[in-house]
Amino acid sequence: EEQQNQNNDSKAPSKTGSYTLNDEQLVENPIKIGFAMDTLTEERWVKDRDLFKESVEALGAEVEVMASHGDDALQIWQAETMISQGIDLLVIVPHNAESTAAIVEKAHSAGIKVVSYDRLVKNAEVEMYVSYDNEQVGVLQAQAITELVPKGKYVYIGGAETDNNAHMAKKGVFEVLQPLIDKGDITVVFDQWTKDWVPTYAKENMRIALDANHNDIDAVIAANDATAGAVIEVLEERGLAGKIPVAGQDADLAAVQRIVEGKQTMTIYKPIKELTKIAGELAFKLAKGEGIEDLGEVVKVNNGKMEVPSILLSPTVVTQTNIEETIIADGFHLKGDVYLNR
Ligand code: BGC
Repeated sequence: EEQQNQNNDSKAPSKTGSYTLNDEQLVENPIKIGFAMDTLTEERWVKDRDLFKESVEALGAEVEVMASHGDDALQIWQAETMISQGIDLLVIVPHNAESTAAIVEKAHSAGIKVVSYDRLVKNAEVEMYVSYDNEQVGVLQAQAITELVPKGKYVYIGGAETDNNAHMAKKGVFEVLQPLIDKGDITVVFDQWTKDWVPTYAKENMRIALDANHNDIDAVIAANDATAGAVIEVLEERGLAGKIPVAGQDADLAAVQRIVEGKQTMTIYKPIKELTKIAGELAFKLAKGEGIEDLGEVVKVNNGKMEVPSILLSPTVVTQTNIEETIIADGFHLKGDVYLNR
């Protein structure tokens, strides 16, 4: 601590004049990581923020966090601010997959590497991408629901069109649904994005879907738990909650409680702690110019401009039957909170 305070300028060259950092120099000039987040609305992002900070600080580095709450111009400004303040590496959760490419260019011209976190920056030369297998998220959702409802009318409540994850998940959902659609077993009677993932829009869409079908629908796949919650509120208004299977994603506490109550069928659990641990180590190593070979299997994900070296973690299905061995065992939620209404 004391040593850090004596010299806070992380960009200052070391005393020896060399830019290769040894351990002693890292204590004097800790690596500084910028974390440019989008929203903190969904519960998961608060975990992402706190656990990423923990992960980086455990390595002796510092983190600066800024969140832009869905404002593209603000996200660009925040990233520029952090770049000009001398961060050593930028980790970004893009609000808009396309417009954040400008940030990557700005970072690169300042000699700063960029890691795309959870959401992919499109059409930019990002150094790495760390996330979950987002296509698999959709596959798992659709598999769980089609097992229960192999035939009938489906509603798809998508995520934000500006978020690559929403596209990947949708792709996964339709990989599973398409053969059943082709057979004539399933009809998708409603399929819309949810602007900025805002639950109010999901509610509006759900009302439209039900009205258009005289409340006669058989299953809903919602892109995340916040939109699933909105769907379930509308089902409640119409006395249909618990009667129509609903899929979500994120394992938000409220969603897991709804699963316990039988109002939501399933969610997707993505262990945020694992993601932040890998992302923190990755950011630290890249910032120091070290290799990242030992962090996990690196796959390629095309972002429109290049094959981005990526580490993708596996999502897990959570239903009433495996809440204990997944999210409770992992300490993602406390048992007392999950079964609060019991
Ligand atoms: C994430 C989801 C999240 C959503 C809304 C997506 O990119 O993968 O976990 O619920 O954004 O913030």
